[in-house]
Amino acid sequence: AYRKGGYHAVRVGDQFAGGRYIAQRKLGWGHFSTVWLAYDTQSESFVALKIQKSAPEFAEAALREIELLSAIAEGDASNSNCIVRLIDHFKHVGPNGQHLCLVIEYLGDSLLRLVKYNRYSGIGLDRVRNICRSILVGLDYLHREVGIIHTDLKLENVLLVSTIDPSKDPIRSGFTPILERPEGNPNGGTVTNLIEKRLKKKAKRARARISERKTSTEGVSVQERSLEGIDLRCKIVDFGNACLYNKQLTDDIQTRQYRSPEVILGAGYSFSTDMWSFACMACELATGDMLFTPKDGQGYSEDEDHLALMMELLGKMPKKIATTGSRWRDYFDKYGDLKRIRRLKFWPLDKLLVEKYKFTEDNAREFADFLCPLLDFAPEKRPTAEQCLQHPWIQIKDENSSSENNEHMEKLETGMGKLKA
Ligand code: ADP
Ligand code: MG
Repeated sequence: AYRKGGYHAVRVGDQFAGGRYIAQRKLGWGHFSTVWLAYDTQSESFVALKIQKSAPEFAEAALREIELLSAIAEGDASNSNCIVRLIDHFKHVGPNGQHLCLVIEYLGDSLLRLVKYNRYSGIGLDRVRNICRSILVGLDYLHREVGIIHTDLKLENVLLVSTIDPSKDPIRSGFTPILERPEGNPNGGTVTNLIEKRLKKKAKRARARISERKTSTEGVSVQERSLEGIDLRCKIVDFGNACLYNKQLTDDIQTRQYRSPEVILGAGYSFSTDMWSFACMACELATGDMLFTPKDGQGYSEDEDHLALMMELLGKMPKKIATTGSRWRDYFDKYGDLKRIRRLKFWPLDKLLVEKYKFTEDNAREFADFLCPLLDFAPEKRPTAEQCLQHPWIQIKDENSSSENNEHMEKLETGMGKLKA
């Protein structure tokens, strides 16, 4: 993808915006962009530089992201505490075209990394609760104050405020910024060279993933212990697909596993579609597994499997809902039964949590009581982020809460107080 219209190849020490920002190392990438840790010579601090692919459709998404993040930042700063802050933006011309660049506050690992770090075994309910609170404060602000639907909530798009591994955190580790391109640049090389490196890395990662999965069943992981005492604050990022609720651009939203039933049915969507994805994320954090992983099979599509999985967990979809939307006839007959998947094996969420994930009965009941209303097939019945923040499960105080955590909670609560006022 390092070609015309694609990613911009960056090397350590590269300068941006007339020398203001200097690339330090790569932080991550998505379908639209690569993200680099950069040093801002003006504010003398580290920032994240999101360099968009150059083709028009990516530029358009970046423009939208800039517009929405600006609208978000215009509100009360404390209310937008749980959403990434846009610092600056500019255009950068490279061999693959003109790239829009967003300068955003530097954040740490994604929640996906956190779950991987814990070997896909769930991160513990206290941590899930803390993270859920941050996300809900962010969503409440987005939905009620700015009227934005995120449309792509998933673990990759929520980042911790600092990294899990302090030695990788430029701020906590006292990393000295690189101000010039190093001699014999370690990240350098031609474009082909870079692609080759990426492919090799990819193969290596795949092997690592396999061995990681293999060891994940060996009981308590070493890394589990290293999470102790980490104050888990997080922020929502990636507004490249977000939209104002009254200016929707497409019906085709959300990453598969986090997609709501109304989107699959083509029945329109609103803020409540984010609440569905939020519930999928919360469950994934708690169990280490994605809640729904649909696959196509003989005689049925991925969509139909997805609807079947939903019904196995949540019960049969009411006929009135199953027979609405522009695509319902692809999946359901006129009685509201799936056309090609006839036998469903019901396994309700509270039972699943106990039987498969070994939750205690109490924990499972309380957590399911929080999640199930969010997974209502009727979008308008789902609680809002504001209502979720009032739920007894979210309000439980941590058993081993540190003073740091309490401080964090106070900050969140002041944010919420302001929202209500
Ligand atoms: P895309 O639109 O291409 O998916 P994202 O905004 O999701 O781009 O960023 C891609 C990845 O880059 C993220 O999953 C994350 O790993 C990393 N990243 C993004 N923003 C930041 C940031 N502010 N601080 C640190 N890492 C970031
Ligand atoms: Mg992303």
